[in-house]
Amino acid sequence: MTPRGYGPGASFCPRCAAPLPGPAPTTCVGCGYQLFVNARPTAGLVLLDRDPGWADGPVGADDAGPRFLALRRAAEPMIGRWETPGGFCDGWEHPADAALREAREELGVTVTIGDCLGMFVGSYEFQDEVLPVLDVFFLAMLEEHAIVLDPAEATEWRWFPLFDPPPLAFATMDQAVRVAAQRLRRGDGPGPAGADERGRRV
Ligand SMILES: [Zn+2]
Repeated sequence: MTPRGYGPGASFCPRCAAPLPGPAPTTCVGCGYQLFVNARPTAGLVLLDRDPGWADGPVGADDAGPRFLALRRAAEPMIGRWETPGGFCDGWEHPADAALREAREELGVTVTIGDCLGMFVGSYEFQDEVLPVLDVFFLAMLEEHAIVLDPAEATEWRWFPLFDPPPLAFATMDQAVRVAAQRLRRGDGPGPAGADERGRRV
């Protein structure tokens, strides 16, 4: 029971605390406040360990292929599971800026942000609420290899084959890694930063 929550389970007005007539979207009968529930944006990184050789064409079948970095989660939800680095966008922060910041905070490194891999709607359990999230994923490359984990976020990091990934903590991460693998198999160019998989500006 989360009577004060702001998410899909909210049962009281967040402005005047009157009982809400129903689940969001709804309007408080006490003060007229309109409550909506929207997916919260996050930024995620499919961080590669070497130049995937876009300019040289597709990765060959005899090539072991690129690897991506995964972290073992140190906290709930999904504690102990492997995940791609990333986190929630802060206020008006652009997802590409959030991706850079998360790499600094979680890994202690600077990365180069590449193509946007797409946007995926998922769920995130937080403070006893299940919230919709809009996960925006970017390809990225390490600029330095001195990774220093934030122990509050992750207990371990490891490279995994992009073409044979382990199950990740959230389904949107599995989807983003699949999209990255498809792109690298095709040998696509990196394209303009900030464009999604169909080339639209995001
Ligand atoms: Zn109200």
